[in-house]
Amino acid sequence: MVPPKFGFSNCVVFLFNSISMAYNAHKNEENIADFWEKESIFQKSIEQRSKDRPYVFYDGPPFATGLPHYGHIVGSILKDAISRYATMQGCRVERKWGWDCHGLPIENIVEKELETKSKKDIETLGVDVFNQKCRTKIAGFVDGWKKTMRSLGRWADMENAYKTMDVEYMESVWWVFKTLHENGYIYKGHRSMHVCPRCETTLSQQEVSEGYKTIKDISVTAKFKITSSTKEIVNEDADVYVLAWTTTPWTLPGNVLLAFGEHITYCVVKSDGAYYILAKDLVEDNFAEKEYEVIGEHDGKTFEGFTYEPLFPYYKETEKAFTTVLADFVTAEDGTGIVHIAPGFGDDDYRLAKAFGVPFVQHVSMGGQFVDTVVDFAGVQVKPIGDHMATDILMVKWLAHNGKLFSKKKYEHSYPHCWRCDTPLLNYATDSWFVAVTKIKAQALETAKNISWMPEHIKGGRFGKWLEGAKDWSISRQRFWASCIPVWECECKCGEQIVIGSIAELEKRSGVVVTDLHKDVLDPITFPCGSCDKVMRRVPDVLDCWFDAGSMPYAQAHYPFKNKEEFDKAFPANFVAEGIDQTRAWFYYLHILSNGVMGKNAVDNVVVNGMVLAEDGKKMSKKLQNYPDPVEVMKKYGADALRCYMLSSPVVHAEDLHFSEHGVRDMFNKTTNSLANVLSFYMMYYDEQNTVSHTNTTHVLDKWVLARLDETRLEVEKYFETYDLSAQMRTVVAFIGDLSQWYVRRSRERFKGLTHKEDAGFALATLKHVLLETSKFIAPSMPFIAEHIYQEMKKLDNTENNCESVHLELWSKSNSVLENKELLEQMNHARQVVELVLSLRKETKIKVRQPLAQISVSGVTLSKDLHSIILEEVNVHDCVQDVSSEDVVTKTEYGITVSLDTTITETLRKEGLLREIVRAINLLRKEQGFTVEDKVMVEYFTEDKYIAAVFVEYSQELQNQVLAESVVENKSGEVVEIEKIPVYLTVKKV
Ligand SMILES: [Zn+2]
Ligand SMILES: [Zn+2]
Repeated sequence: MVPPKFGFSNCVVFLFNSISMAYNAHKNEENIADFWEKESIFQKSIEQRSKDRPYVFYDGPPFATGLPHYGHIVGSILKDAISRYATMQGCRVERKWGWDCHGLPIENIVEKELETKSKKDIETLGVDVFNQKCRTKIAGFVDGWKKTMRSLGRWADMENAYKTMDVEYMESVWWVFKTLHENGYIYKGHRSMHVCPRCETTLSQQEVSEGYKTIKDISVTAKFKITSSTKEIVNEDADVYVLAWTTTPWTLPGNVLLAFGEHITYCVVKSDGAYYILAKDLVEDNFAEKEYEVIGEHDGKTFEGFTYEPLFPYYKETEKAFTTVLADFVTAEDGTGIVHIAPGFGDDDYRLAKAFGVPFVQHVSMGGQFVDTVVDFAGVQVKPIGDHMATDILMVKWLAHNGKLFSKKKYEHSYPHCWRCDTPLLNYATDSWFVAVTKIKAQALETAKNISWMPEHIKGGRFGKWLEGAKDWSISRQRFWASCIPVWECECKCGEQIVIGSIAELEKRSGVVVTDLHKDVLDPITFPCGSCDKVMRRVPDVLDCWFDAGSMPYAQAHYPFKNKEEFDKAFPANFVAEGIDQTRAWFYYLHILSNGVMGKNAVDNVVVNGMVLAEDGKKMSKKLQNYPDPVEVMKKYGADALRCYMLSSPVVHAEDLHFSEHGVRDMFNKTTNSLANVLSFYMMYYDEQNTVSHTNTTHVLDKWVLARLDETRLEVEKYFETYDLSAQMRTVVAFIGDLSQWYVRRSRERFKGLTHKEDAGFALATLKHVLLETSKFIAPSMPFIAEHIYQEMKKLDNTENNCESVHLELWSKSNSVLENKELLEQMNHARQVVELVLSLRKETKIKVRQPLAQISVSGVTLSKDLHSIILEEVNVHDCVQDVSSEDVVTKTEYGITVSLDTTITETLRKEGLLREIVRAINLLRKEQGFTVEDKVMVEYFTEDKYIAAVFVEYSQELQNQVLAESVVENKSGEVVEIEKIPVYLTVKKV
């Protein structure tokens, strides 16, 4: 094909532009969502697939509080794209939505409304009233979620969502508990754990790790006066003190022992008439501002067995207490090298006191207040919210007043806070139920090898490391709105204990009809003890809501009470996808529980997304308003653009994303809008008489775009199969760019059919096939525009695309790309040549609209067809062996050398001006809203003889290119500038 002397490019740019109004994504997406809903396309996409090919996906339940944020949106996009892809591969992908209804998040919301201050207030109100309030609260958030998920194009069965508060769900949770118990993985222990004094409940290791904050605190070194003989260490009869340091002065009233390290060297220091004992390495630190003299050095053993005067008087009668002991956890790194032991408030403390047979002393309640025994401070909060040092200061004052204070110091440290209510946590010894993770661990590590992670490094990294270091999981909570620990114990402590695993079992034992499994219902249910004549009562604790979430695979199906056969066949699931914060939470609990009850991993593939931060890299904050509302972003650019933006970003590889609205807009232009324009272009030239097939085309552009289509589809498939969502998205985006910026752009004049009617038919047939196939392979990531294209094409021609929706289609198989590999490479080179010529034009400041005479290309051999395409694109008349000109510029890159003749002859100059004129007229046409159908007449006037000559000499070409019936000289209309020269121009409709 010979390029026309003065291409139609400008003319068609105008035509193309006139229809390339921005695609109204939001409005179209709303219509499409309506269509899906009305025709039940989602349900059909499941029902039309065989039950024999399930693709199982577990949806991690979001808390039913608040509305979806970007974190949920990323997860939803991932889940949706993967599920849609699997459906197109012929799998049946059930997508049951879930709600995490229990636990502190919802309790705290209700507490705020009820203005309760403590657990006691709730008990006074009635647990049944409180729980009922929690239950009704859940419904309040559902509608907001449904709306956002609909806008996002996320398909999920929200109508039949599972709720962790449903009786069936809770019954399966009992089954999990009982199975674990039967397998020897459940036990009750008394142990020091972190508690929130406001929520009055224990927290898990993971919950504690979430709430560390750096705060200022006060530390104290107290003087403990030795009461037994000190002859061994001091010659004279004087007061001898052991110095002990603590960062939690409020624990001092609960002191019962002082611990020395066996292998630490201690000094006896004389200062101001008294003697002090502390580690040798820490003497300087503690006495820096005092006058002192070291009078002796001893090893730790020397100090075993001294008695001392209790610091506070409240527990002075405690047997075996107030002696110095040795312990292996003592170090001389900071403080004094002597540790004050309060058994109620630390793991080491608890075990040590137990080992020495000291009765358990707990001077603070779980609510964080001093108990009545501590008469001087009874009822005082030990870590008051808002003023967390207040009580420690009280302690300091008391010690100073009673001559027991050695020194005090302010310091900064990282301290755990309640992840929900922000109250400083207390390390507190209490009864708790545990899952013996340490017993499950070996198997869990083994089965973890079966799980594939995206990105891969999480497997042995964040997840693997956490699993290796896992400790037993404290699952009991002393709260109200949760699943209950299904254990009944005899009230007389005869030791009888029964774990109930189902409603039927409880009904059988108690004779009570049970319809709900919440605390307020269960607590009154009792039954006779089997070994004595007393009554069995449920232990008061409820379950950590992560136990609910981790039981989700079984509980959402009410397994094993229902669906047993199907479940067993489809377990483990194919995939889950959640944020990186779930690595140590939901992913972990799923894995631990599935190993505990099923003996295997719960899922085969895990896709982990990163955190979405504000554009400035800070956390998204409602207060700072440093990010745009997701609903608004979708209104502006559509959900498809947001999906593309997220899917092509590193956030789908568990890395942080600094969210940029600009980035979404960019994606809109590159993907949704480009595709919409290609579709409009096709529809404008659509010809129902055209019967040729794209398979018979011989045009190099057609063959190339068909090869690109095959190549792209194969790659997208490959990346989906390996859950590499960003690679598939980038592949799609690159293809859309090639389709609109190269294939359509370079084929524009072909479509018009002015030069070659038959060729126009091939171009149309090719574009039709490409658009239709594109709508299929983009359907998982861009479901709306995919449907839009599919439906519009279907309106024109209903032979190839006869499914009701693109989402009911099957994935197309690709032809061999290999046979077209050379063509793909050749086109690549052609585009490199174009790039070089355009950069030469830029360097020499010659506009593309100015035609030039010749180029030469070496370093690559291209077909004649490709030469034509290059020449059109760079607006040069000829490609020659050698450029014979004085004004030649040359550039080499990619192993290709391009020379460009920059001579502008008079003829070339006129051709260039003609293009400028055409452009100016077409702009006027556009401004007046004329369409392709509108024939016009053009009037012009200019005093510039040269430009006037162009109007006369090129009158016919001009008429063709601006679709004008006549071009006449007449001074009218407005003045436009052509190459900075004023020209009067008028365009009138005929
Ligand atoms: Zn709390
Ligand atoms: Zn009993």
